Amino acid sequence: MKRDPICNMEVDEGKGITTEYDGEIYYFCSEGCRDKFLKEKSSKVPRTSYDLIIIGGGPAGLTAAVYAATLRMEAFLITMNLGGQAIDRQHKDRKLHGI
Ligand SMILES: Cc1cc2nc3c(=O)[nH]c(=O)nc-3n(C[C@H](O)[C@H](O)[C@H](O)COP(=O)(O)OP(=O)(O)OC[C@H]3O[C@@H](n4cnc5c(N)ncnc54)[C@H](O)[C@@H]3O)c2cc1C
Repeated sequence: MKRDPICNMEVDEGKGITTEYDGEIYYFCSEGCRDKFLKEKSSKVPRTSYDLIIIGGGPAGLTAAVYAATLRMEAFLITMNLGGQAIDRQHKDRKLHGI
């Protein structure tokens, strides 16, 4: 079984609608999903909509990003650093027990 990159439905390789893009074969549940995929791929305009926008790359933001990925949500993370206070080099006190 393959997964439709647009709706995430499982698609039977023998029955699904396919298209080749950039040397890779993609499988779709419907022509609508395939058309949406091709439209997104051919668009030069940057994406402006996401399921979730996360601000902050500390433990809270990274946890939200991981959960969003497991739910197959399209998430966009905005942060000034990855790790937050846990890796903030400005802290002279480096005793971050448990991290
Ligand atoms: C000295 C010290 C020791 C600690 N020791 C421990 C420990 O031993 N064990 C433990 O479990 N916890 C410890 N903590 C607490 C732990 O680090 C915090 O509870 C945890 O980091 C909070 O996570 P957070 O994601 O909520 O926020 P933060 O870690 O503060 O992350 C916030 C994120 O938001 C980003 N951000 C902020 N403003 C903006 C903006 N305007 N635009 C974009 N991004 C922005 C930051 O860059 C950062 O990535 C310690 C904290 C400190 C300061």
